[in-house]
Amino acid sequence: MTIDETLATTVSGMPVAPTRGRLRPLGVGEVTLRPGFWQQRQDTNAARTLAHIEHWLEKAGWLANFGLTGNPAERRGREFADTEVYKYLEALAWEYGRTRDPGIDDRYRAIVRRVVAAQEPDGYLNTNYGRPGQAPRYSDLEWGHELYSFGYLIQAAVARARTYGPDELLDAALRAADHVCAEFGPEGRNGICGHAEIEIALVELYRLTGVRRYLDQARLFVERHGHGTLADIEFGRSYFQDDIPVRDADVFRGHAVRATYLAAGAVDVAVETGDSGLLDAVTRQWRNTVARRTYLTGGMGSRHQDEAFGDDFVLPPDRSYSETCAGVGSVLLSWRLLLAHGDPRYADLIERTLFNVIATSPGDGGDRFFYTNTLHQRTLGAEPPADVQVPRAASNLRAPWFDVSCCPTNLARTFASLAAYVATVDDDGLQIHQYTPATIRTGDHHLEIDTAYPADGLITIRIVAGPDTPWTLSLRVPDWASGATLDGLPISRGLVQLRRAFTAGQTLRLRLPVQPRLVTADERIDAVRGAAAVERGPVVYCLESVDVPPHVAFDALHLERDAVPVDADGTVLVTCRPSVNADHDWPYRPPAPSGDAEPVQVALHPYHRWARRGPSTMRVWIPLTPER
Ligand SMILES: [Zn+2]
Repeated sequence: MTIDETLATTVSGMPVAPTRGRLRPLGVGEVTLRPGFWQQRQDTNAARTLAHIEHWLEKAGWLANFGLTGNPAERRGREFADTEVYKYLEALAWEYGRTRDPGIDDRYRAIVRRVVAAQEPDGYLNTNYGRPGQAPRYSDLEWGHELYSFGYLIQAAVARARTYGPDELLDAALRAADHVCAEFGPEGRNGICGHAEIEIALVELYRLTGVRRYLDQARLFVERHGHGTLADIEFGRSYFQDDIPVRDADVFRGHAVRATYLAAGAVDVAVETGDSGLLDAVTRQWRNTVARRTYLTGGMGSRHQDEAFGDDFVLPPDRSYSETCAGVGSVLLSWRLLLAHGDPRYADLIERTLFNVIATSPGDGGDRFFYTNTLHQRTLGAEPPADVQVPRAASNLRAPWFDVSCCPTNLARTFASLAAYVATVDDDGLQIHQYTPATIRTGDHHLEIDTAYPADGLITIRIVAGPDTPWTLSLRVPDWASGATLDGLPISRGLVQLRRAFTAGQTLRLRLPVQPRLVTADERIDAVRGAAAVERGPVVYCLESVDVPPHVAFDALHLERDAVPVDADGTVLVTCRPSVNADHDWPYRPPAPSGDAEPVQVALHPYHRWARRGPSTMRVWIPLTPER
């Protein structure tokens, strides 16, 4: 088959392709982002981040690991270092699908050659285990990450198959998947990986190939969780989600990336097998986790020691871990639930997480990243040098690379495939979930979306072409958007469904009210009781010390509770009152009224912009002045 013939038969590049469900996704070949908030990040990813990642994979020796055959002591990086190469390949695959850039294709092929050369004859592929002098295969399921590693290998191959066609990486992924099924099948080892990921990968490989045993194996891995096959480690088996069976749990717990990946895999299994009990269980866990264990930013994970969810309402802003990868995991999960149920609240959380976690992590140059995303920085961080690999991910400002460098590669594959999360179709029409300048061409539909969102709330949707018969266009109205209008008429939050015979050239004007607003938290989130935050549209704002006059104590500012925040040239102006209380030798004393101080006006910036003007202290939640 020629490349053109292969492309013609390739599905249109969707990261997740369920065979059933409420909505059908579109691929990176059907939705194109045009200049705006997200295309800018997508272009930076293409122009800077991809090359930056490859530079570090070489510099850190993680790519060279695939060429080592002799002394295992030469191997570099942590046990899961192979996965960053796979995620990079996945990012290149989506990027090629988006742009058809031959330079991207060349880089993809060169790395695939190095990867597949390291595969063993029986399909096993991992540079850290099984060779002379190395630990035996599967001798450390808790921490070895071998199945996790296969998962990313498979996902990269599926991405390539869906944007180009079958290639030698897919051959390697099929051999690896067959090896996994033989080794961990019903007659094999009764084990799971300490880090979920193989589950979503095997389901997607099933969706690509139709080979049933991949789905059966994914279901087996999902069902094996919660039966204590992994060791009871210092963080407990909840760390691996091996404490409670998936269908019995009420809320996500343990390591936040592991938890969201496993839940995403469970949704995939439930959808493909028609297991409504399993789908209901994950849906319930998502609802409870969003209601009790999620930061205002959409960030997940409030415990540093095990990168984990805290108990209900334990969401301290100065200890928010909110790993960038947990944000990616949350988007992957919410997207699957959106496709399964069609409920716009999943797209609401995706939007919140994209604007406030995913957009926060990378620096403007695309070559530095936050690993954790705190909501309150009490001390000035230090900017690591550009050529230094950072050992402690939570202790610095955006860094070029980490000992555990999962987040940069996860961002790269997310940005490269972002267009696939904008819209979906069903038998009745087309649904728009995210608002960004974009061209959508699928089937008989051709739509153009134009907007300066989120800076401005006006979104125009032009029907360039559509079916001759009546069809339904569905638009998400975010939960925060009370007062939204469509063509000047008030609409309610949730889904607006327009069923009509649209005429070519017809334009709709959706207006979302993006003026700044104060929000407070459920009072059971004790850490921010008596404080408020400012949001504007889907964007969370923050107070940075660089915007506060030097004579005003940053950590003693109170937000004037009755003053209305106002837009001011990309920032939001708020009125604050500094506390007049001085330091005391002992910080505890009977309650006493604080004195009045002169108000000061300060500018809040979008949280995703924080620490882009050099080190600063920062807070999202600001204590309110006392009620009068
Ligand atoms: Zn990460």
